[in-house]
Amino acid sequence: MADCLFCQIVSGLIPAERVLESDRTIAFRDINPQAPSHVLVITREHFPNLAAVAQAGGGVLDELAGLAHQVAVAEGIDESGYRVVFNTGPQAGQTVGHVHAHVLGGRPLGWPPG
Ligand code: AMP
Ligand code: ZN
Repeated sequence: MADCLFCQIVSGLIPAERVLESDRTIAFRDINPQAPSHVLVITREHFPNLAAVAQAGGGVLDELAGLAHQVAVAEGIDESGYRVVFNTGPQAGQTVGHVHAHVLGGRPLGWPPG
């Protein structure tokens, strides 16, 4: 999708600080971090949201979740604790229409979320 911000990060047209990669997913630092560790994990293929990637099947959602955990290990927050968030739809604050998991940690995270 030529006009999709995260597709442009996948293709390298827009730079990003990549943390980890797998065959079908990429992790890079959020440009506006909300915690000491704030990394986005996306699929290389364009899916608009979590429901679409879940419906696609084929193990890509497993790979996304697996890379999110590997990011937490690499960031050193897997034991202290971390949160994985898929904002989905306008009321949840989804601003980029390409599925992305936020991996957040490195400080106490309040609950319920805002
Ligand atoms: P959401 O609001 O859940 O759709 O999350 C989109 C996230 O993308 C936000 O946390 C933004 O800070 C982040 N973001 C937007 N543009 C970039 C960029 N060029 N590089 C890295 N992160 C970005
Ligand atoms: Zn896209």
